[in-house]
Amino acid sequence: MLIDIVDQYDHEKKEYLKELRTKVILQLSTQQDHKKIVTFLSKAGIINIEDLEKKVYIGFANDFMLSNTKKIFNKTLKEAIQTVYNPQYNVEYIVYPPFSNGSDLLIDLWELLNIKPTKWKDDSQIPSSIKNELTNYFWKLLDPSFRFDNFVAWSNNQFAFSAAKAVAENPWNAYNPLFIYWNVGLGKTHLMYAIWNEIIQNNPDKVIIYLPATKLVDEIVQALQHNKMSTLMRKFEDVDTLLIDDIQFLAWKDKTQEIFHNIFNDFQSKKKQIIISSDRPPKELTQIEPRLKTRFALWLVADIQAPDYETRIAILQSKLEIKQESIDSELLGIVAQHITTNVRELEWALNILLTRKKLSWNEISEDDVYLCLKTLWYSAIQTNLYTPNWRSQNNFDTIVEMIANYYSISVSELKSDSRKKEITTARQILMYIAKKHFKRTLEKIWMYFWGKNHAAVIYAIWNVEKMLKSDKDIQHDYQIFTEWVEQ
Ligand code: ADP
Ligand code: MG
Repeated sequence: MLIDIVDQYDHEKKEYLKELRTKVILQLSTQQDHKKIVTFLSKAGIINIEDLEKKVYIGFANDFMLSNTKKIFNKTLKEAIQTVYNPQYNVEYIVYPPFSNGSDLLIDLWELLNIKPTKWKDDSQIPSSIKNELTNYFWKLLDPSFRFDNFVAWSNNQFAFSAAKAVAENPWNAYNPLFIYWNVGLGKTHLMYAIWNEIIQNNPDKVIIYLPATKLVDEIVQALQHNKMSTLMRKFEDVDTLLIDDIQFLAWKDKTQEIFHNIFNDFQSKKKQIIISSDRPPKELTQIEPRLKTRFALWLVADIQAPDYETRIAILQSKLEIKQESIDSELLGIVAQHITTNVRELEWALNILLTRKKLSWNEISEDDVYLCLKTLWYSAIQTNLYTPNWRSQNNFDTIVEMIANYYSISVSELKSDSRKKEITTARQILMYIAKKHFKRTLEKIWMYFWGKNHAAVIYAIWNVEKMLKSDKDIQHDYQIFTEWVEQ
């Protein structure tokens, strides 16, 4: 298993791979846009060189980065590797999750390529007075912290994420209009802000307006009251890109909808970018005029579902990174196990825990976590992580012994660093069982299998899930083990 092998590399080998990566990046930078390199390759690195197969393995933090990089850099990356390493070698792309948290195989590309991370332009830099007036007139956004690079993309939101990114990078030409919908607390506003931030930074002379639908209603009501409708419409004429958040709030507001319909038609005829978010799909927008609804349905509609466990952990970790804080990963695991459908609530939980930590000057305990879940109305039953699975007569140690016997290996071999295939497989299955049937946290699992780390456990679980889909022997063995666990 590559991931296990990487763990075993000595310092020299890591340095070698790191240096090779640096050379490849520098080579690439002679032909490719530096910002693009930083965006796509910051969390990609060379993780192995296979001399027999003549292959250089490049690892990516996730599938999304892998497939996009492949699309964008495939040919040039291969050429760069052939130029700086060996013309006969080919490139192999694989997902290597540990890169998402940084690694000593990576060095900072911002620094290497001498690019300054784009800083928020303060008001004094915003040039035109019209622009100033308009941004003041409409909703003004000052929070630059919602960006694409701190939005965690997972399989179910990749489409929405790439559509948003495409629009942000190429407004007026990519998808216009764009309709983003999904449940509350799953990042609509975050994505809208990210689009806004990016467009405005790349097009400082354009007028990009973000308006929550409620604010739009206010504007229109006020304009009607003061007989200033034509002034308001004129202001919209100067807007180049309009983002309306939470369009569902236009429900019942007949007059606003009518005016919005006009604005919207005007935008479309002038090919100006419109992006709308909603907490439900167009057809479920009851109380929105049918003619608007039908129009929305014709747009590019991007939806997502809730993130999976690993993504929830990744989101929590990315939030901690932003706040420059840390919380024991085992405790984060408990949070992510219980809060499954709402990222905002994940963040609330994190904030509650961090506040508690600050106030008590103590590390957060498991009790704190359960208390916090209760505060957020999650009915979490506190289980002692070391007690046996409640469904099983057999505790985890017994299962480890039984599985070791089954494969004729010893328990100490299972817990050792041995790389023999049958031992690695058995160990990975056990990690999977520990997680799935004994609800052990990742940290407890890696501590149990001494010498492994967090990433190795995530990889093991992922790998077993994969094998269970295709490998008949593993399916057969796992069936038996499940029976033991549930006895
Ligand atoms: P919505 O508008 O869909 O109700 P928000 O965009 O306000 O949700 O998201 C709620 C919180 O969750 C925000 O703090 C946001 O940063 C965070 N969040 C949501 N999705 C993600 C994600 N994929 N990656 C990182 N943070 C996220
Ligand atoms: Mg929102």
